[in-house]
Amino acid sequence: MKRTRILIVPVVSVALATVARDASAADRKFYGDPPDETHAWCVHDLNRPQPPIVKPGDAPGQPPADAIVLFDGKNLDEWVSVEKKGGGVIPAQWAVKDGFMEVVPKTGILRTKKEFGACQLHIEWATPSVVEGESQGRGNSGVFFMGKYELQVLDCHNNVTYADGGAGSVYGQNPPQVNVCRPPGQWQTYDVIFHPTRFDEAGNVIEPGTITAFQNGALVQDHWVYEGLGGHRARAKFAKHGEKGPLELQDHNNPTRFRNIWIRELASNAKPTREQVAKQRQEIAAKLRAEAGQAKDPLAEMKLWLESLVYAEDSATVVKAQKMASEYADSASKLDDAAAKAREGELLEMRSVFKYMNDNKLPGSPYAAQQKIEGFLKAKGVKFK
Ligand code: MG
Repeated sequence: MKRTRILIVPVVSVALATVARDASAADRKFYGDPPDETHAWCVHDLNRPQPPIVKPGDAPGQPPADAIVLFDGKNLDEWVSVEKKGGGVIPAQWAVKDGFMEVVPKTGILRTKKEFGACQLHIEWATPSVVEGESQGRGNSGVFFMGKYELQVLDCHNNVTYADGGAGSVYGQNPPQVNVCRPPGQWQTYDVIFHPTRFDEAGNVIEPGTITAFQNGALVQDHWVYEGLGGHRARAKFAKHGEKGPLELQDHNNPTRFRNIWIRELASNAKPTREQVAKQRQEIAAKLRAEAGQAKDPLAEMKLWLESLVYAEDSATVVKAQKMASEYADSASKLDDAAAKAREGELLEMRSVFKYMNDNKLPGSPYAAQQKIEGFLKAKGVKFK
């Protein structure tokens, strides 16, 4: 039903808190550059959703509250073992002692029961303090994202191997940027951001996955774009996989240890399409129009109509906004000195609102209210930029 409104004359008679002339960015609208085809939001947009609040870990390296703890030193409840022969899934076979888990050679890989796609992983590892073997035979294990993409675990302290197989390497593809390994037996950290490869129905790569990894706080993989899945001796190739898969730890016959393993599932970091941006802008505008329809005072209502036009054109809203802006400027220009002084903050704010609409050529512009208010303020000796 069309709502008719009888405006109280003058429009500006509505009592409003004076807006400080130097209001900080934190409480301003009509401020940053408006939305465009690839951005649903203004710069510094107060309508943009706040990030969720997450309680951080109690100490560096400890899991934030939204992390899934995969191993806290107590048990392997989140894990299963995969038999070397036949690939059957059986209860986790690795050893748990003194707050860590340890590979029991020849029992097979350890696999999470849960599956993950894009994720942030924290994992700590230590190669055996008793050094045995060399090159790939010394302290070898590995972290396999989705069971397919290996981030190598290896004792690379005074142990030379091929560069694309060292600790912190994307095995067979990319060496780590630096060898930042601690001596055998000492605990080391990986902090990793992983994004899986996306495929179309036919199995063609839409977007290759990526990995960014820190070892002991040093960057070892800088947004590496995968060339394929992991593999030994063979040039990496892609093979279609799903959106999620289990995390796996490798049994390479060395009693390598792991502790403090936690993972956070990440949203896709793909930029929204233009269609998605257009839809978001329409949704924000519709919400603001609904608020305008419920507004208790005309000035708040006018600002909401104008604000909605920052996001999306709407012809009925343009008509309302133009009419209210015109009436506002007309009544403002009739204020006596005392009233003008009392409402100076409000007038300056509204002048900047109309200026924002005009400068950015937003729907309904040009709003003549800007010039009218500026003329009035100048006549009263009020300075503005
Ligand atoms: Mg390995």
